[in-house]
Amino acid sequence: MDANDVTAGRARGRVALRVGSTGPYSSELTAGQIGAIADIAERYGSGAVHVTPRQTMEIPHIDIAALPDVTTLLAGHGLHIGYAGRRPRNVTACSHWCLYNVAPMRDAALQLNCLLNENENEKMPLPGKTNISLSGCGFSCVRSRTSDVGVIARSEIVITDKKCKKCSLCVKEPLGCQVDAITLAEGAVVIDRQKCVRCGFCSGVCRPGSIMMKSKSFDVFIGGNGGLKPREAFLYRTVPSLREAMELIGSLLEGYRAHAREGERIGDLIERAGMEWPGQKT
Ligand code: SF4
Ligand code: SF4
Ligand code: SF4
Repeated sequence: MDANDVTAGRARGRVALRVGSTGPYSSELTAGQIGAIADIAERYGSGAVHVTPRQTMEIPHIDIAALPDVTTLLAGHGLHIGYAGRRPRNVTACSHWCLYNVAPMRDAALQLNCLLNENENEKMPLPGKTNISLSGCGFSCVRSRTSDVGVIARSEIVITDKKCKKCSLCVKEPLGCQVDAITLAEGAVVIDRQKCVRCGFCSGVCRPGSIMMKSKSFDVFIGGNGGLKPREAFLYRTVPSLREAMELIGSLLEGYRAHAREGERIGDLIERAGMEWPGQKT
């Protein structure tokens, strides 16, 4: 543990700890883990716990002298501290039980968190703060488009030869298309591909199978960030599997590590490099 693992508190000699889990996934705590965090907040902190925007639990007002004890107690419950300073933040992902998941992202987030934040021996050092956010569908609840690296799972849909029953379920909310990309014509549905955002909701509600998901795909975005100079990420590449998205993220992070200056965010590096990704593999 070093100064990067804790956040300075307002009171002298006190710090705030950001806590994540080593399993089943950093932002999916068990009741026992939540109880352990509550106990620590009572015994060593102010009794309060804050939930951060990046899905970690923050325990404020911890006495610096108590850090070794607190770290040991947390480790006993599969919890660890970090995600602060010029470090990768907690890799965020959607809840895997969300109805809209095209592909659950929890396991991918866990894998990246192990690489970037949790495995002390194999931790991949990065030059600056790095937010990675994995969304199971285009709603992008974990803000993939304003992260240094973001993934959004997509559904590639196809109209089949199964007869449309004209039930209209696919046409509009609550279960169907939310961007008005579907119209019902004579005996068939028509999809406006310019409007379609590849969410797959229509295929999910179509009982006869007139619209079906043909395949999944994964949009990988890079260069976004929030903060004082917010910046939207741009679509870097679309790949056909989560495995390939993970490989791509690995090579992007290697490029970031090799080319960025100390403290530089991915978006800053891209801007400095003239909007080309250093070491880009084609
Ligand atoms: S992005 Fe989609 S899958 Fe993920 S939590 Fe939001 S609605 Fe659910
Ligand atoms: S996949 Fe396209 S057409 Fe189907 S509901 Fe989503 S946006 Fe609409
Ligand atoms: S495509 Fe399917 S969901 Fe849409 S109107 Fe036809 S039968 Fe209903």
